[in-house]
This record gives sequence, structure tokens and C-alpha cells, in this order.
Amino acid sequence: MQNISILGATGSIGKSTIDVLNRHPELFSVYALTANSNIELLLQQALLCSPKYVVIADPKQFKHAKKLFSDHLLSCEVLSGHTSLEQVASAPEVDIVMAAIVGAAGLLPTLAAVKAGKKVLLANKESLVMSGDLFIQAANQYNAQIMPIDSEHNAIFQCLPADFKYGELCSSGISKILLTGSGGPFLSSPLSELHHVTPDQACAHPNWDMGRKISVDSATMMNKGLEFIEAKWLFGLESSDIQVVLHPQSIIHSMVQYLDGSVLAQMGNPDMRTPIAHALAFPDRIVSGVAPLDFNQLANFTFTEPEAERYPNLILAMQASSAGQYATTTLNAANEVAVDAFLQGQIGFMQIAQVNQECLQQTSSHNLDSIEAVLESDNSARRLSINIIGNLSQPCMQRVSS
Ligand code: NAD
Ligand code: MG
Repeated sequence: MQNISILGATGSIGKSTIDVLNRHPELFSVYALTANSNIELLLQQALLCSPKYVVIADPKQFKHAKKLFSDHLLSCEVLSGHTSLEQVASAPEVDIVMAAIVGAAGLLPTLAAVKAGKKVLLANKESLVMSGDLFIQAANQYNAQIMPIDSEHNAIFQCLPADFKYGELCSSGISKILLTGSGGPFLSSPLSELHHVTPDQACAHPNWDMGRKISVDSATMMNKGLEFIEAKWLFGLESSDIQVVLHPQSIIHSMVQYLDGSVLAQMGNPDMRTPIAHALAFPDRIVSGVAPLDFNQLANFTFTEPEAERYPNLILAMQASSAGQYATTTLNAANEVAVDAFLQGQIGFMQIAQVNQECLQQTSSHNLDSIEAVLESDNSARRLSINIIGNLSQPCMQRVSS
């Protein structure tokens, strides 16, 4: 029986994780569930999973949460605040941590799990984008096992040889990593229409059901840019080792091309319970609840190259990854601020990339040799992005539908 803490239990990945865990009560026991502020859902989840602890990150919700949980006679302890997130991520009783908080808020709790030498199921790609080098060093130093949850990285992991050594593509017989992406909801929209898309349109992904931030990132392909950076850190790759391929059907989740011309692909229905179940059980396999692929029903597979003009955020992320850690941390922070402003109706869809680019241009190169330096860089990029948004010459306001 393995004990698991789920950071970000009330989100899309958190809910899928609980769904998989509930199919295997003989294998896994829930130690802690955490949420930012959705107490009602956290309560339902606690009634289902009987955790020892629940954490409400937002301290303003603490009193209300404590009362609600005791009204329901739940014996689990209710904690609050960010240090409690780190506490349940690193507790000695915990074997596995699902890192599924969205954005930079996931960095410190995820790192706490890494430094406690846990098996870390990494959904929170932003923590690697912000602190890649320090993160990988800590994983090595503290013997943490990092299992990729992002479907692409999980697919790559599954297609690599079992004895793959970090960064050693050629001696493993590999010529390229093919990182696939759907292209999002605006793959074939006329470019002129992209300025006018609404948050709800941007969040309506054709194949995946995800949180709003990652859905907007998928529409701008910043998500693929963050994944490009994530892949470099996870597998020790150079930029030239990775090719981004558009595959709108989202059935192939990524591929590894070998020197002899073979290409291994991992396929499956677009449902995050597959990578979650794979990472939970690795090296075994367990049922995930995902329907098997029906090859009689599959549409034709297509593959194309992403257009730079349609997806400027993808290009920015690739450039930032070559510029270094300060640039990827800056870009991640700028993007979080810009996506939030877009979701609030303050800026237009194409202005997300404009804010990101200006923030990168106005930030000079600096060294990030500690987590404190990473957090400082993240903070100053957020302040700068808020200023840039305030100064946009012709803000393209979007109506936020209710
Ligand atoms: P989501 O918005 O649905 O859920 C986010 C979770 O984080 C919630 O439980 C929320 O309460 C918590 N949270 C938000 N802000 C917080 C804060 N300041 N402090 C503490 N907790 C906070 O997001 P999601 O779609 O589940 O994505 C989670 C992570 O997984 C992201 O990093 C995303 O990039 C990654 N990911 C998601 C998918 C997917 O299919 N949803 C796929 C691959 C990777
Ligand atoms: Mg992904």
C-alpha cells in the first residue's frame, strides 16, 4: 500500500488522479488532498478518499473549511497556508506526490517533495520551466524519482529505451524526439480573427478537457513551448534534438525516432488518466478507466508544421530556452500574468504574446543560482508585465461571457 499526497486535488489533473486511485483501493491510500479555495469540492473528495490531512492554501478560507469539515464529522486534520503544502509534500509517511498545482504556485511544494526524495508525479511543468537546473540537481541529490505526467513527456518516457541515460541520445540509438501538439482550437481559423477570440472560445479545446490556464496556453501554443523547455530538462536534450509536430487528432501523444529509421509512438485516447495510471504503477500497468482505442473509428492521422505567425508564443519559448534560465522564468511569469489578464477581459488573445515578448525584451540576462533568485526573477517579471499591460497602446478588450 502506497501513501499519496495530491497537490491541486480539486483541479482537472487532481480529479483524474482521484478517479484512477479509486479503482485501486488495495494499492494506494490518500494521505493528503490540497486545494487553493474550492472547499466544497475538497470536502466531497475527502468524504470519498478519507485523507489524513487536507490543506486549504488560501488562509482566508481556513475557518470556514475547519467548520465545514467538523460539521461533516470528518476526522482529517485541516491545515492552511503554503508551508502546509510543503509539509504534506514531504512528510515521511508519503511515498508518492502528485504535483498538480497550476503555475508558479506549484514550485515550492513540488521542490519540497523532490528534496524529500519522493516519487514525484510531475504535472506542474511550470516548476521545471522556472528552476530546471536546480530542480534536476535536487532530484539527483535527494534521489527523487520524477515521473512525467504531461501526456507528451509520459509518451516520450514510454518510447525511450529502458536503459536510457540522461542526455545520451546518440549512444541510445536515438536521432530525434518528436513532440506532438494538436494546434488548439484556432488551428485553421483565419489569422485576422484571432484578435477577437473570447476566453470561452480559447478554453474550448477540441480534444482535451483541462483547467483554464493550460487551455489558453494550448490555444496560443505557449503550452507546447513550456513543454519544449520541460522536455529539455526532463531528458537532458538540446533544442536541436526536438521537433514540434502538429497532430490535430491528439491520438499520438509524442514519438521517439531512432537512428535506424524506426519511430516509436505512444497512442491512446486523449485522457490524462492514462499517463497518471502509468506513472502511479510504473513499472507495472493498472486499469485507468480510459476506453481503448477503436481503430475502426479513428479519423485519418495528419501531421504538419506549426506556423510561426499563428503561434508566436511557441517561438518565444524556444528562444527563451536558448537564452537561459532567467529567460524561461521571465517568460513563464509574464505569460501567467498575461493569460490571467486575457481571462479577465483586460487584453486580447494576440496581446498575450505581445506582453510576453515585451517583458522578455525589457529583462536583461541574469544568473539564477538559487530558488530565492528564481522567485525574485519571477516577481519582477510579474511587476513588469502588469506595467506593460497597463501601457498597451490600444488594449483590445474582450467581453468575458458569464
Ligand atoms: P486546474 O486549474 O484545473 O487546477 C489547479 C489546481 O491547483 C487546483 O486544485 C487549485 O486549487 C490549485 N491551485 C491553484 N492556485 C493555487 C495556489 N496559488 N496555491 C495552491 N494551490 C493552487 O489546473 P490543471 O489543468 O489540473 O493543471 C494543473 C497542472 O498540470 C498545470 O501545471 C498544468 O500545466 C499541468 N497539466 C495539466 C494537464 C491537463 O490535462 N489538465 C495536462 C498536462 C499538464
Ligand atoms: Mg501536454
